Amino acid sequence: MNIFIGFVVLLFVVVSLGINSNVLSLNIVSAYGIIIETPFENNYQNNANNNSSDNDLLVFDYLSSLYTKEQKEKENKFVILMFDRGYQSIFSTAKPIMDKFGFKASIFIACDYIEKGNGMNWNQVRQLYNDGYDIQSHGLEHTRLTELKSENEIQSIISGGKECLQDNGFSPTAFQAPYNKGGEDPFIVDTIANNFDFAFTGHSELMFLNCDGWENFGYDEENYHGTTDCRPYFSDGNPTPTNKFAMKEWSHDRAHDDINNEMNQDPHGIDVSYSLYLEFVRIVNSQTKFNEPGKINAIPIVGYHEVSKDDDIGTSPELFYLEMEYLYDNGFKVITIDDLGYDKYQERFYVKNVNTLGSEYSQLQDTTPTWTETIRTQTMPKGSEYSQLQDTNPTWFKPNTIQSLDIID
Ligand SMILES: [Zn+2]
Repeated sequence: MNIFIGFVVLLFVVVSLGINSNVLSLNIVSAYGIIIETPFENNYQNNANNNSSDNDLLVFDYLSSLYTKEQKEKENKFVILMFDRGYQSIFSTAKPIMDKFGFKASIFIACDYIEKGNGMNWNQVRQLYNDGYDIQSHGLEHTRLTELKSENEIQSIISGGKECLQDNGFSPTAFQAPYNKGGEDPFIVDTIANNFDFAFTGHSELMFLNCDGWENFGYDEENYHGTTDCRPYFSDGNPTPTNKFAMKEWSHDRAHDDINNEMNQDPHGIDVSYSLYLEFVRIVNSQTKFNEPGKINAIPIVGYHEVSKDDDIGTSPELFYLEMEYLYDNGFKVITIDDLGYDKYQERFYVKNVNTLGSEYSQLQDTTPTWTETIRTQTMPKGSEYSQLQDTNPTWFKPNTIQSLDIID
C-alpha cells in the first residue's frame, strides 16, 4: 500500500509539473518498455474550462487506473519452463541462475541420458526435486515412438520411462513424447494415458488451458480447425489434436535454430542473441490478450535443452540470465507442470498453485559480457535499477565441456 501511495504521489508530482509548464503530452514507459501516448492532451483540452482540482482528480483517476492495469497484467502472466532430457548444464548452469530469481522448472528426464555422457546423475536430479523442481518423464530412451516397430517397444519406452523414475523415488505425472511425436497414434496415446495424467505431443507458441483455445482464438487455426472437442478421442477412436495428452511447448531451441539459419552469424553472439531474446519476450507476452485475473486461458511453456554455448542451438548462460531477469522484472509467475490441475468436468486445465517469486533476489553484481547490458538497455525502461549496475565477472558463469547436440527435442 505504501508503495502504491508513493507511486501515485511521485507520478502526480511529475504530471502536475508537466501540466503547469504547458507540456501537454506525456509519455509513460509501459511494462514492456514500449513508449505509449497517454490521453492527457485530450483530457486537458476537453476539460479546459474546469478548475484545477477537477484536473487533479482526473489525473489521479487516470494514474489509479494505470496502476490497476499494470497490477492486473502482472496477475495474468504465467510461464512454465521445461528442460528436455536431463543435461548436466541444467544442474550446473541453469539452476544457479534460476536460484537467483527464485524460479523452478519442470525437468523431463530421458532415462538413457542420466548417469551417462553429458547427463546429470541421479543425485543431481534428486537435488533439483528437493529444491521444488518437478521431475517428469521423457521416456526410457529418447527415441521417436512413431518409428518403433512393435507395441512392446512403445510400451517399454513409455511405461519404462515411468518405472525408471519411480525406481529412483520420483512420481512423474506428465510424459513428454520424444520429439513430441505420436499424438495421432491411438495406441501411443492409450499407452500414455494408462501411465500418466498429461502428455506433450506437440508444439505451439502458447499452451491453451481450454482445449478449444486454438480454434476459438484463431491461433494456429489451420492446424486446429474444428477442435472444440476436448476429450482425448473423437467418436471414431482417433485422438483429438488438443487434449490433455497433446500439450504443446514453445521450443526455444527450434526458434534459435531458425534464427541461426536466417542470420548465419555467431549462434551465441549479440545479433543472434538479441533476436532470440526479442522472440522470447514476444512469446511470453503473447498470453496477455487471452488472460484476465482469475481467468487464465493461455500459458507459454518454454522448452530448453542445454544452457551452454557448446552447441549452436543451446542457450548461452548470458542469454538465459537475461531471459530469467526479464521474467522477474516484469512480474511473471513461473510455475511448473505440477501446478497445473485438470478439471475433468469442464475438460480443461487450471492453475492450482502459484509459486511465490523469490524474495532473496537482491542487487546482483552480475557478470555477463558487455552485450548483455546492450540488450538490457535496448528493452528495459530507462532508470531501472539495472542501469546502475556495474557488470564485472559473473560468478555463475562456468564454461563447461559438453558435447554438441545434434538433434532438437
Ligand atoms: Zn526431447
